[in-house]
Amino acid sequence: MAASGLYTPDSIERVKEAVDMAELVGSRTDLRRVGARHTGLCPFHDERTPSFSVNAENRLYHCFGCGASGDAIRFVEATEGLDFRESVELLADRYGVELRREREDPAAEERRRRRDRLMQLVERTAAYYERYLWQSPDAEGARTYLGERGLGEQVLRDFRVGLSPSHWDRVVIGAQRDGFTQEQIEAAGLGQRGRQGGFFDRFRGRIMFPLADARGRVLGFGARAVEEGQQPKYLNTSENELYHKGRQLFGIDRARGPAARAGRVVVVEGYTDVLALHQAGIAESVAIMGTALTQEQLVELSRAASVVFLALDADRSGREAMLRAARTAGERGMELRVVSMPEGVDPAELVTSGGASGFTGLLDSAQSVPEFQVGRVLAEADLATAHGRDRALAAVRPIVAATPERSATRDELVRRVADRLDVPAGYVTAGAPARSAVDLQASRVLGPHTSTVPVRATSGASPLDTAARVERTFLATCLAQGERGTEYLRRLDSGHLPSERMLAVREHLLAHGSASLEHLPSGDPTLSALVTDIVMLAEAEPSSEGALRLGFLQLELRRIERQLRGQHEADDVSRQTRLYREREEIRRQMGEAMAETA
Ligand SMILES: [Zn+2]
Repeated sequence: MAASGLYTPDSIERVKEAVDMAELVGSRTDLRRVGARHTGLCPFHDERTPSFSVNAENRLYHCFGCGASGDAIRFVEATEGLDFRESVELLADRYGVELRREREDPAAEERRRRRDRLMQLVERTAAYYERYLWQSPDAEGARTYLGERGLGEQVLRDFRVGLSPSHWDRVVIGAQRDGFTQEQIEAAGLGQRGRQGGFFDRFRGRIMFPLADARGRVLGFGARAVEEGQQPKYLNTSENELYHKGRQLFGIDRARGPAARAGRVVVVEGYTDVLALHQAGIAESVAIMGTALTQEQLVELSRAASVVFLALDADRSGREAMLRAARTAGERGMELRVVSMPEGVDPAELVTSGGASGFTGLLDSAQSVPEFQVGRVLAEADLATAHGRDRALAAVRPIVAATPERSATRDELVRRVADRLDVPAGYVTAGAPARSAVDLQASRVLGPHTSTVPVRATSGASPLDTAARVERTFLATCLAQGERGTEYLRRLDSGHLPSERMLAVREHLLAHGSASLEHLPSGDPTLSALVTDIVMLAEAEPSSEGALRLGFLQLELRRIERQLRGQHEADDVSRQTRLYREREEIRRQMGEAMAETA
């Protein structure tokens, strides 16, 4: 066992250069040569007409449909469910490149050795708990408990579920006998010091769920009480050198392969939910174990699949977590679907009593984030008063405005809101700020860039999706327009590109211009993906000076509209008036520009 990142950057570069990209990707999907590119059906999403493109020269792939993009290593990571290091090893092997190891500095080597040692200890203990569950006469109560929950031996063994003895020092004694020190046992979260100076097992008389990383290496444990009245009911490994709660997804090691195949990953609350779902054949399931979904977990999820189903408790904390997650997901090009769980019922109970279909039925009726958000506003609205309904209307409008125009999603949202609030449908869309007629017309003139992004009628788009698409298109146009484009790039600021990410992309394009792909930052996969996306858009689609000017005006309009939305009644009236005037002026210029382009 060794930590990742031990191969020299130079040898990783040589691996990348040795790859025959068309051959590598061609083994996954049929490719057809079109000029300098190869195109085919995307291996990452379901499609009938090809929107997947491979640039054999740059050794990059990109999907205009789902946004999947990257280099050969990323491709192997995504299609084989391997991590970076393993993917590099696979490619080196396949294309006959010898990998060189980095010479570690002594401190780093020391850290790696210690980590490996602690992992050995945790692994040893996991195996011990496992044996104890299946072999000890004391484990009968625990086995009965698990059996009564409908969990069979196979799934319990697959997930290496175990039992910690109720004796106070079994692990501590055994580990010391195997040569581990008290300090190491404590650092790995397995032992603790008592007030009287004793040293004893942290986990006693509990069902043990090993918490592994994506490669299946056990880093810690989640533990559930067996006895009635045993406190606390759940006890986890505390944060330590190996285990970080916010990074952990229970079951990710077993779910990655199935998720890559199914194209989706299901997120639930608890250990037994994951076990029950796997047992029912829904193996693309992981648990966040009662925490709010973190950024780190989202990143891990986005590596597993592009569609993420959240089947979390219907309580408020779960919902807040979803809304936060939705913002991040939009930025990462993931699709988030929210499953409405019946109050007080968890996924384990659903599949145990009703089989897989009891749960997949819910997945089928999962909502996009806008649908879910609107539902939440309506559920909390005070429908008895006109004031309450107006407030709900105001809260719902921006959500509706962010969905694709003339889509089934918007249509249905509008009807639902109008119905519940008892107002004409026009009220729901009135004054919707995000996509004015001019805006929409502009996106048609700007043409193929925006239309290559398919609008999934069922999914809807978060405000971020729409904004990101407009920004991305404009940056691609800038790149395609050379000198003139660079001038426009320089004029952009945080008013036009409110997200840090897009600002970083702008910086990168300004710094490297047409050589942007050769300087992709290796430590920032999201930025790399965005830059790749934009460079390939710029190469693939025609653009014009008119489109450049229009695109800039469109961003100006969005900037002003954002400022207007940020205004409050009490704010400076003259400033507001000025913004309205500016907006009129921009719209006039857009009209002119469109007349010229048409
Ligand atoms: Zn795709």
